[in-house]
Amino acid sequence: MAVTKRSAQASQDSLYRIFTIPEAPDSTLGVIEQEISQNLAGFLGNHIVATDKPLTEIEKDFATSAIPEQPSFVSDHTHHLLDKLVAQSVHTSSPSFIGHMTSALPYFILPLSKLMVGLNQNLVKIETSKAFTPLERQVLGMMHRLIYQQNDDFYQDWMHSANHSLGAFCSGGTIANITALWVARNIMFKPDGDFRGIAREGMYKALKHYNYDGVAILVSERGHYSLKKAADVLGIGRDSVISIPTDSNNKIDCQQLAAKCQQLTEQNIKILSIVGVAGTTETGNIDPLDQMADIAEQYQCHFHVDAAWGGATLLSNNYRKLMTGIERADSVTIDAHKQMYVPMGAGLVIFKNPASVAAIEHHAEYILRKGSKDLGSHTLEGSRPGMAMLVYASLHIISRQGYEMLIDQSIAKARYFADIIDQHSDFELVTEPELCLLTYRYVPKQVQALLATANRDIQQQVNGLLDKLTKFIQKRQRENGKSFVSRTRIEVDKYGGDKTLVFRVVLANPLTTETILQDILAEQALLAQESETFLPRLLELAS
Ligand SMILES: *Cc1c(COP(=O)(O)O)cnc(C)c1O
Repeated sequence: MAVTKRSAQASQDSLYRIFTIPEAPDSTLGVIEQEISQNLAGFLGNHIVATDKPLTEIEKDFATSAIPEQPSFVSDHTHHLLDKLVAQSVHTSSPSFIGHMTSALPYFILPLSKLMVGLNQNLVKIETSKAFTPLERQVLGMMHRLIYQQNDDFYQDWMHSANHSLGAFCSGGTIANITALWVARNIMFKPDGDFRGIAREGMYKALKHYNYDGVAILVSERGHYSLKKAADVLGIGRDSVISIPTDSNNKIDCQQLAAKCQQLTEQNIKILSIVGVAGTTETGNIDPLDQMADIAEQYQCHFHVDAAWGGATLLSNNYRKLMTGIERADSVTIDAHKQMYVPMGAGLVIFKNPASVAAIEHHAEYILRKGSKDLGSHTLEGSRPGMAMLVYASLHIISRQGYEMLIDQSIAKARYFADIIDQHSDFELVTEPELCLLTYRYVPKQVQALLATANRDIQQQVNGLLDKLTKFIQKRQRENGKSFVSRTRIEVDKYGGDKTLVFRVVLANPLTTETILQDILAEQALLAQESETFLPRLLELAS
């Protein structure tokens, strides 16, 4: 052990030693390895999603704000972490955890992450990331090719070019979306005559120079909230993100989009970007990207596609056609930490035009010098880890064909789940899966019959109670800890566009079986019976 048992007092000697490799194998590390594999086996075998300890109880373990004055033995502290932290964590890799986009990881990720952390390369500049920078540029090239399918010469020319970048690696979809709109903003309000560009002079002078009364970003009502954050930090304002209604399939209504573009243009409000969603966070649907590209062309604005969730579908030759039109986007966001099974911290934004990142270029004297190949001159973030290595490794180890199988089986599983929901007389499928996401709710068959014929008043009353029942079931199921589905609130056409609470399921874990899905439905049907107020009142209304 680095800090010896002799004394746990801070001494320079023992402090230096924690930066060297222990001579004898550190038993503490063994404990961690053992814990990890035991935990994984346990999670997988028992389908346990989380302990039932309430959050307020767990908070008591993390209550003090005092920084420890005295050092601890690594072994002691490890045990502390295992007890207080690991034991109470959510088992996102459990095959019965089907509520969120955070899923299981392939086993090889763990040792490779250790390698990544051990090397501690900083991708901001080549001086701290030789080899990692070319690797990251190659990964950006692969992802660019996945979307835009240019020829070998194109990648030969641009992939490693100093003043270009095929995209930016970042911590996630949020930063990717911000980066995309940042580039769009700076290109739209570029230097012109004696105006030195928005990057230098800011929004007020940009609007004055270009003579606009405002800017807008247009996205469907299913757009991710990160776009509002982007508008906020870019000085555009959250209210300038205009949501366009969706059709009954949760896809943007292009007629209304075009009408809004026309109206804004007449009001002298410049459209900064139209954003297509390829795999909405709540329902997994894909906007009609080709039609949106036409509209963006007509209004000469940036076309961004937020494919944070759905982008990996491009790896499946059987389903990539769902994304037709994505190749016309000026920029695309993809999260490798979603359907590419890489751990969190792996977001990407890819630019069609390798020169567009010049709009956000920054230089500093001690790093990021002009003409260097430092990736940091084109990223929002500064110091960045070598996450690209995990994407690189996964693309090699799993390969496109492997990803195709993973994507295809997730979609097949979502269809299976949709089928058994449809067949069950007491469940109602709310949104059909297009990718591996779907929403549904528990509605006893008598209540379904009532809803089908009821007037709007009764419908709203029933739906109000059903919302409460859905919430009740979802919370109970989470507390029981055997399985987990999430919940969200979406407008449902069938119910006059009223916001309706639904179960939301993401079927990305390859180890989730049909039996598990059957069990989850059965558990929900049982939990519904435990509701002492909502279910009886619903049944009474229906009788
Ligand atoms: C997850 C997601 C985001 C945000 O990504 P983070 O990695 O959580 O920052 C943005 N857009 C869509 C469509 C997403 O699914």
